[in-house]
Amino acid sequence: MNGRVVKSTGSWYIVKTENGLVKSRLRGKFKQDDLKLTNPIAVGDYVTVTKEEGQPTWTIDEILPRENYIIRKSTRKTHFSHIIASNIDQAFLIITLRNPRTSLGFIDRFLVSTESFRIPATIIVNKMDLEYKEKDLDYLQDIHDIYDILGYDVLEISALDESDLQEQFMPLLTEKTTLLSGHSGVGKSTLLNKIIPEADQVTKEISKFSAKGVHTTTFAEMFEIPKGGYLIDTPGIKEFGILDISDFELSHYFPEMRKYLGKCKYNNCRHINEPGCMVLEKLEEGYIHPYRYDSYINILNEEDDHR
Ligand code: GDP
Ligand code: ZN
Repeated sequence: MNGRVVKSTGSWYIVKTENGLVKSRLRGKFKQDDLKLTNPIAVGDYVTVTKEEGQPTWTIDEILPRENYIIRKSTRKTHFSHIIASNIDQAFLIITLRNPRTSLGFIDRFLVSTESFRIPATIIVNKMDLEYKEKDLDYLQDIHDIYDILGYDVLEISALDESDLQEQFMPLLTEKTTLLSGHSGVGKSTLLNKIIPEADQVTKEISKFSAKGVHTTTFAEMFEIPKGGYLIDTPGIKEFGILDISDFELSHYFPEMRKYLGKCKYNNCRHINEPGCMVLEKLEEGYIHPYRYDSYINILNEEDDHR
């Protein structure tokens, strides 16, 4: 039978099938990708399952090819990656202007990840029902100035406003698998509970399946949207990893720099101080936003530290 993995506890997988949710485990050894992975199966995977003879449980026989997937950043110690979720149509970054203010650097790291995984990204500014000071509204303007022209949608909503949800937010989710991400405190759980009123209930039901004492907090969880589609929540995951990106590759994930691919004098230009660098020229001319260039340099340095 075909199914889709909606939750992983590390050893057990909850698979949604036409028979409802079934508790499954892996059959024997699975071939793994070249990537060093701690988990062969992730939330969002399409699989085939068979019922175990005389048992209430099922086995996963096969994973269908993944369209895409995102990983959690590997720790410096282990260099092991962990797939968070797969087969994602779009990723939403929920941000707020204040308490907490989501930094541009954080937004850019998210966008580099989604670009590298080839997942379309949208920035959702939540809590727009609150009164803001001028400096916060200036920040909102900066966000529009920077991201609108890059082709990222920037949407302003309030999770507490029913018409925002019904008219702006929900229609974007229909029939899609959407990954929800953001700092804690930005309103992710509030949104999730508005869209899937029984989310807490589903979580409880799924927990019943899980082995006792297993920590599931760092795993993603997928919820079915009543009107069709899925929402993937990533509780406790602050940041996604960036797949092994070499220095000169990083600019491929900045659309405004990608445009000048191959136009620098040196093929492996890192756009730092090289002569004949087209990116630096465009930065100078104002075609590349200085904040974005700062993010680029910061990520370059951090990834260097990581190696
Ligand atoms: P999470 O950590 O991202 O899951 O954030 P929560 O959903 O727990 O929300 C954090 C706090 O912000 C809670 O007190 C929510 O009630 C509040 N909150 C969430 N969305 C909104 C919003 O759109 N407007 C306002 N004013 N408060 C919100
Ligand atoms: Zn260059």
